[in-house]
Amino acid sequence: VKIELINTGSELLLGRVLNTHQQWICRQLADLGYEVTRQICVADDGPSIQAAAKESLGRADLVIVTGGLGPTSDDLTRDLIAQLFERKLVFVPEILKKIEAYFAARKRTMPPGSKGQAMVIEGAHVLPNDWGTAPGEAIVCERNPFSPAGAKAVLILLPGPPREMRPIFMASVLPLIQRELPLRSPFVCRTLRTAGMGESMVESKISPLLQPLVKQGLEIGYCARIGEVDVRLIARAGAAQAIVDSAEQIVRGQLDKGLIFGVDDDSLESVIVERLTRLRKTLALAESCTGGAIANRITNVPGASKVFMGGLVTYSNESKANLLGVRPESLQTHGAVSEVVAREMAEGALVRLGTDYALSVTGIAGPGGGTPEKPVGTVHMALARRDGPTLARLQHNNFDRETFKFITAQQAMTLLREQLVS
Ligand code: ATP
Ligand code: MG
Repeated sequence: VKIELINTGSELLLGRVLNTHQQWICRQLADLGYEVTRQICVADDGPSIQAAAKESLGRADLVIVTGGLGPTSDDLTRDLIAQLFERKLVFVPEILKKIEAYFAARKRTMPPGSKGQAMVIEGAHVLPNDWGTAPGEAIVCERNPFSPAGAKAVLILLPGPPREMRPIFMASVLPLIQRELPLRSPFVCRTLRTAGMGESMVESKISPLLQPLVKQGLEIGYCARIGEVDVRLIARAGAAQAIVDSAEQIVRGQLDKGLIFGVDDDSLESVIVERLTRLRKTLALAESCTGGAIANRITNVPGASKVFMGGLVTYSNESKANLLGVRPESLQTHGAVSEVVAREMAEGALVRLGTDYALSVTGIAGPGGGTPEKPVGTVHMALARRDGPTLARLQHNNFDRETFKFITAQQAMTLLREQLVS
């Protein structure tokens, strides 16, 4: 299946908005075995959008167009595509009712332009939008009018805002694609998510043993992110499932148990919240150099309130002493960035918030503040436990401040996760 993606929007070309649709849509499709063969970004004007759509339909079986379904004068996509297919726009009263209800529920008056969003290209399938106003549309042509081969083709229009486009894509677009343009051979993809080892290390540990499976059609992909490496195992055709299963076993056997924290869409924080929930355990945080970054990530997970009791951002010596009970002597003798203080921070949070676990971090983010004994990037972290001795770990994270926070949060969560799985 040949797929082309057209993202419309002058703001994308002016660099005002990052084209996240490109990455997100390609990812959703690739996970199901559909690969986007070309992606185009065009300005919001008639000639650009029509030319791009016509060209893509000349090559592809499926063309997805995003943006420009809104009520303003720069939202032209629906009209332009209707023109291109020489079809009329028809008014659909049910869509207008839904749009009116959308505004009524938010106690807002409907702007006059919104009526236009109830117009649909004649013969198109409506892809309902329960998250905003403009629905998506799909034109299914049994014979592609723009390609000499004249095979079946599908063109899909989706609204620009990600919080509308994504749920419509999941609810309506994926099922439609699988129904109208099914893959000719099976496709299996498994992503194993690792944290704590660099990309080349991971590769050198697993690649040699996977070679026999590669000969049978296994594709291995590595995706390095900050503090994480994904190992993607893909196979197509007949034995795909068996090949991916054997590959997964080999990878799990080669990488230490602690290294793989999840699969597919898992994140460190989602795995932690899931594990704590299952074990009926609670967590507190005492953060210094991460400034709440760990709490932020934990609270991004739905259901975190069952296991996360609270976190303190103790950035000064005084707050470490007053709020967590860190001893002034410890701060004096060892300094705020020390194993002793990290332990006392975690233990203080454990007692004060009455939890089963408490995680602490204290470090030197830089660029200033380093010394020869404690260079920039030095981080002490500790995990206090109700049912065991406190664990401490030292890390060296000499990065820009944002990366420093992310990696430090990553390592602290890893320290906790290791205890939750062992
Ligand atoms: P609206 O009703 O909001 O006008 P629309 O369907 O007309 O929706 P656009 O006007 O093209 O869509 O885009 C609306 C907003 O959605 C943009 O301002 C931008 O913030 C976001 N957006 C659009 N396209 C993308 C994209 N490719 N990646 C990320 N964000 C996007
Ligand atoms: Mg718009």
